[in-house]
Amino acid sequence: MYDYLIVGSGLFGCVFAHEMAARGKKCLVLERRAQVGGNVACEEKDGIYLHTYGAHIFHTSFEDVWAYVNQFVSFNGYVNSPVANYQGHLYNLPFNMNTFRELWDIVTPAEAQAIIAEQRGAITGEPQNLEEQAISLVGRDIYEKLIKGYTEKQWGRSCTELPAFIIKRLPVRYTFDNNYFNDKYQGIPEQGYNSLIAALLDDAQLSGGIEVRTQVDYNKERAAFDGQAAKVVYTGPVDEYFDYKLGQLEYRGLRFETQRFEVANHQGVAVMNYTAREVPFTRTIEHKHFMRGREDVFAAPVTYVTREYPHDWQPGEEAYYPVNNERNQGLYAQYKALADKETNVIFGGRLAEYKYYDMDDVIKSALQCAAREQAAQD
Ligand code: FAD
Ligand code: UDP
Repeated sequence: MYDYLIVGSGLFGCVFAHEMAARGKKCLVLERRAQVGGNVACEEKDGIYLHTYGAHIFHTSFEDVWAYVNQFVSFNGYVNSPVANYQGHLYNLPFNMNTFRELWDIVTPAEAQAIIAEQRGAITGEPQNLEEQAISLVGRDIYEKLIKGYTEKQWGRSCTELPAFIIKRLPVRYTFDNNYFNDKYQGIPEQGYNSLIAALLDDAQLSGGIEVRTQVDYNKERAAFDGQAAKVVYTGPVDEYFDYKLGQLEYRGLRFETQRFEVANHQGVAVMNYTAREVPFTRTIEHKHFMRGREDVFAAPVTYVTREYPHDWQPGEEAYYPVNNERNQGLYAQYKALADKETNVIFGGRLAEYKYYDMDDVIKSALQCAAREQAAQD
């Protein structure tokens, strides 16, 4: 008998398992993929860590989360500075003085502010959708060249049908600063994300235990497992748990196409966004550039580049991004009401809470969940 049956070995499941095993509990983690780690899982090729499920850059301003992950691994100080490619012209991201200079050949923040102020004049009142939000943040030129095409490919919907918050993730700065994130801490585990997952699941020093079984789909074998634990922690898609009985939530799917090149450096940057609608992929990732400080890896005449193609998700495929528009939020609220009625099941993480969580949010949420469990038992 286990204390917790944890469905999914992503960051939520692994942090929760670690925390409860540290408190003496017995955990069984089920994972339907062949390997653990959820979307942060990597594979190693020619000494390069490939981000199998999309580029993952750890960034946070939560002191507790940063301290937590640093107990397990060292981070390499990588700072994400992607480049946007619009019809062969390159622009720095996020939107900052370098971008404005490249677009308008201006020199001072005041010049950039004046252009954007004029262009955003079209939007009055609180922005109602992503298009209005984007124009009111950075004006129409940037919206047309760097946002509209990328966003419509990424989400498969018009910018007028998407919620404004998606674009609020990106900083806008009137300084020459290409750091994609505003967070205080940032980096990538020196030994790759798999080392973080392995450390979380290592129960050798813990008073409880963590057992892991891969290639087991809980939703297909529920009867066999439900009796084996006092409580279930479910981190898979919430609608799938309920057998889609209220209808399907929409997700964005992704297809990754990876090529090996026999050169040391293919694109000169880890992430290049292709922002024109006509290019069918959204970004290309050259994985070795994430390995800051590894001169040996950079020097080797081999590199891997992955193109990321978004598409409409179908049941049975990996669900990557929740599509948090009104229709889906309404349906999710109904599933949430069902989930709240389930006794002895905790729903946590990106898919079970249908939320655009970053890694640090997921870790924070799993730590809080473990603390609540502890408090309930005290
Ligand atoms: P997941 O990682 O999705 O893990 C859930 C696990 O549950 C999966 O392994 C799945 O196979 C398993 N599972 C589901 N159903 C079942 C079942 N029925 N039975 C058994 N197992 C099941 N965050 C950042 O902070 N920085 C980034 O740069 C970043 N980039 C991203 C890029 C992409 C393309 C994507 C999709 C996400 C990105 N994220 C990023 C977000 C990050 O991936 C998530 O915040 C985090 O990995 C979520 O962890 P999780 O445990 O909630 O879910
Ligand atoms: N975005 C854009 N152009 C870009 C990069 C991002 O329009 O070159 C928009 C797009 O709508 C995207 C959102 O900003 O969904 C958030 O981007 P982020 O890089 O945070 O997305 P993620 O890494 O989570 O896919």
